[in-house]
Amino acid sequence: MTINAVSSSGVMFREKPPALQFLDLRLQYEEIRDEIMQAVTQVLETQRFVLGPEVEQLEAEIADYVGCRHAVACASGTDALILALLALGICRGDEVITTPFTFVATASAIIRAGATPVFADIEPNTYNLDPTLLRQLITPRTRAILPVHLFGLAAEMEPIMKLASEHGVSVIEDAAQAIGAAYRGKSTGTIGSMGCFSFFPSKNLGGAGDGGMITTNDDGYADRLRLLRVHGSRSKYRYEILGMNSRLDALQAAILRVKLRHLNDWTEQRRCNAVRYAGLFAHVEAGNHVALPLEPQGMRHVYNQFTIRCPERDGLREHLQREGVPTEIYYPHPLHLQPAFAYLRYKEGSLPHAELAARQVVSLPVYPELTEDEQRMIVDAIAGFYGHRAGRTREA
Ligand SMILES: *Cc1c(COP(=O)(O)O)cnc(C)c1O
Repeated sequence: MTINAVSSSGVMFREKPPALQFLDLRLQYEEIRDEIMQAVTQVLETQRFVLGPEVEQLEAEIADYVGCRHAVACASGTDALILALLALGICRGDEVITTPFTFVATASAIIRAGATPVFADIEPNTYNLDPTLLRQLITPRTRAILPVHLFGLAAEMEPIMKLASEHGVSVIEDAAQAIGAAYRGKSTGTIGSMGCFSFFPSKNLGGAGDGGMITTNDDGYADRLRLLRVHGSRSKYRYEILGMNSRLDALQAAILRVKLRHLNDWTEQRRCNAVRYAGLFAHVEAGNHVALPLEPQGMRHVYNQFTIRCPERDGLREHLQREGVPTEIYYPHPLHLQPAFAYLRYKEGSLPHAELAARQVVSLPVYPELTEDEQRMIVDAIAGFYGHRAGRTREA
C-alpha cells in the first residue's frame, strides 16, 4: 500500500520518492511558483499578448546579461538562426560552414534561409567545430561560419573570427545551449555578428514553451531583425521586405524575466554538479574508462549537458537504465548522415570524429537541483558497470 505524503514544498507524492529523472523541471518550478504566477497574472491583466513592453524589457535584460547593444526576441531558437541568416542577406547558392554534431535546427535553418550547409568535422575532446579544418572549406560562395557552443561550452572562437575576417565572411553563433557561457572573458552570443539563443524548456533559461532571441552589437542587423520577425513591416500594412511571423509572447517574456533573475544561481549549481561529478569519478576505477567534459583554459562552461564518452556506450546505457539512472544521447546520428540532408551527398566516414562521437557519447543528469546523493548513485552505477566487466571493484 502506498501512502500519500506532503513534501516540504507542499507537493503530494507517494511514499516512495519519485524516480530520478534526466531533467526534472518541477523542482525549479516549485522554487519560483509564486513569482511565476504573479508575472503571468500581470500579463493577463493587461491583455497584451504579442511583443509589447514585457518583451521589450526581456530584450533589454538579455542584452544587459550577455553584454551587447541589442537583443531581438523571436518565436524559437530555430527562428533565431533563420532570422539571423536572413538579416545577413544570405541567398540561394550561398554556403554556410557548420558542425554536423549538433541539433538539427543548426543546419536546417541554413537551408530554410536558402543556403547550403557545409559540414566541418569536430574536435574529439570538446565536440565543437575544429577550427583547423575550416580554411580548406572556404569557397567564393561561403557567406558565413556558424559555430555551435555545444552542451554549454564555447567553440574555439578566436581562430574562427580571424579566418572569417580574412575571408570577409560573417560569423553567427548558435548559443542555444550556452547562455551565460564565456570565451576569454566574452559572453557567447556577443563574439560573432549575431548570437542565437533558445528558450526551449530544456535549455538553461527555459520558458513555458518555445522562444528565442538574437543578440548583436550591430544597429543595422538589429533593425533588420525587428523587421524580419513581423512580416517585414515597420508601420501597419507597409511591407518593406519579405519577413515572417516570429514573435515572442508576452507570457513567455514575463516567465523568462522571472527565471533570468535566478539564472546565475542555477548556472553555478550546474557548474558545481560538474565539479562534483569529476571528484566522484576520480575515486572510482570507472573514471579511467570514461572521458569527462573538458573546460579548457579561459572558457566558462555552463553545462546544459554533462556529456561523457566511452567506447562501450550502448552497454553502459542499458546497464544504467536497469539501475534506474536516466541518460540521453545528444546526438545519436551526425547530421551529415541524416535522410533530410542526404542530398548533400556526404558518406559514412566523411566526418569521422563526429561519427565516432555519435557512437560514444552519453549525457548524465546535471540540472541544478540534482543532489549529491543522486550524483553518487549515478557514478556508483557507472562504477558497477565497469567493476562487473572487470570482475572486480575497487573501494573509493
Ligand atoms: C535547442 C537548439 C536549437 C533550436 O532551438 P529551439 O528553440 O528548439 O527552436 C538550435 N540549436 C541548438 C544547438 C539547440 O540546442
